[in-house]
Amino acid sequence: MLNLTKSAAAFAEAKELMPGGVNSPVRSYKSVDCNPPFIDHALGDKIYDIDGNEYIDYVGSWGPMVVGHAHPKVVKALQEAATRGTSYGAPTCIESELAKLVMEVYPSIETIRMVNSGTEATMSALRLARGYTGREKIVKFIGCYHGHSDSLLVNAGSGMATFGVPSSPGVTKGTAQDTISVPYNDEEAITKVMEEVGDEVAAVIVEPVAGNMGLVLPKQGYVRKLRDLTEKHGALLIFDEVMCGFRASLGGAQAAYGITPDLTCLGKIIGGGLPVAAYGGRKDIMAKVSPSGPVYQAGTLSGNPLAMTAGLATLQIITAEPEDGKADYSRELTLKTKKLLLGWQEKAKAAGVAIQVHQAGSMFGIFFSEKDVLNYEDSCNADQEKFKVWFKSMLEQGVYLAPSQFETLFMSGAHTDEDIDRTIAAAEKAFAAVA
Ligand code: PLP
Repeated sequence: MLNLTKSAAAFAEAKELMPGGVNSPVRSYKSVDCNPPFIDHALGDKIYDIDGNEYIDYVGSWGPMVVGHAHPKVVKALQEAATRGTSYGAPTCIESELAKLVMEVYPSIETIRMVNSGTEATMSALRLARGYTGREKIVKFIGCYHGHSDSLLVNAGSGMATFGVPSSPGVTKGTAQDTISVPYNDEEAITKVMEEVGDEVAAVIVEPVAGNMGLVLPKQGYVRKLRDLTEKHGALLIFDEVMCGFRASLGGAQAAYGITPDLTCLGKIIGGGLPVAAYGGRKDIMAKVSPSGPVYQAGTLSGNPLAMTAGLATLQIITAEPEDGKADYSRELTLKTKKLLLGWQEKAKAAGVAIQVHQAGSMFGIFFSEKDVLNYEDSCNADQEKFKVWFKSMLEQGVYLAPSQFETLFMSGAHTDEDIDRTIAAAEKAFAAVA
């Protein structure tokens, strides 16, 4: 039995200090009805709690830790950077270095602006889309998450596609009514909306590979359809690749599907574990951003030298030319992920447990469902109770997964074959507990 005595005491104290004891809701483990381990440190693909338990980590801080925790090159770069001061609030060369590297991998980004979180990136991209087009409505997809800014915290009401209703107290009806929510992977629904109001839509924002309803892949041709419809109606297409950037493939979903969006939002990996995100895209659109244009957006810590350093060191590792005969970094991660999922599928089948597994490069997910999961409704219909049992068994066995079926899991360069084999063996026991 996992001993989490110290973590339980730390959680009790934190609950007196912070809402739900955490600084971001999913960390509370509310969705799996148990206390979260409190983390002491992490190294490579392992994470260690204050009770001394070691886990193989597939959360990776929700995506950023693609090279593993405390990678020696990232740590060294950060140590050197810290001795030169931690923030200046003034231009630095390292901002341009990171910008150049990101833009090499994402040619659709002709100009970029660094910010501090994915929320800021999507919020700013939408403001820009509205400023550029002079239109006010935006379209988002049910189950896609783009951070917690007001106009994106909106759910659909009933029906195929509806004008939004606030999904959190504090979001005004006025804000929500400019956000139209449409089911993901439903060409008919988005076509209908665009035919009805497309000429009033500033932007369609999408996770081209959806990672926030569990991992859900776009149907063939779906992303192309979004490109065609937005072009036809003069709306911008914004790819939120905060999660799938550098993961669905090195060049993200846009490279994987061969679609060029007008604007892209990135985050997570580009900060290498420090708070960085970015939005960027067509030069003529980005020219509207302050101070070159009238659309205001700013940040005291934007382009922070430590954060840029961690991002640059991380991207340098994953974009490096592979040694002779070796697959490149992204390909290695994809192969490792495939191996893990094949193992899970085999063990689930043997235990007679119906699962669906999805993979996009180094992102992966599992649903306890007989049928494939194509949208948020399917995801909600997957068996959450079975997931809970499975999750707890994996945790007991030293495998650290996201505590919800609505999250995505991540492979890193630090995961070894041996750890993947251990994870498959743990899954075998966990499926037996579910069956
Ligand atoms: N967009 C996507 C696709 C995300 O997955 C997230 C967070 O997980 C965000 C935006 C928000 O990013 P942040 O949590 O950095 O504000």
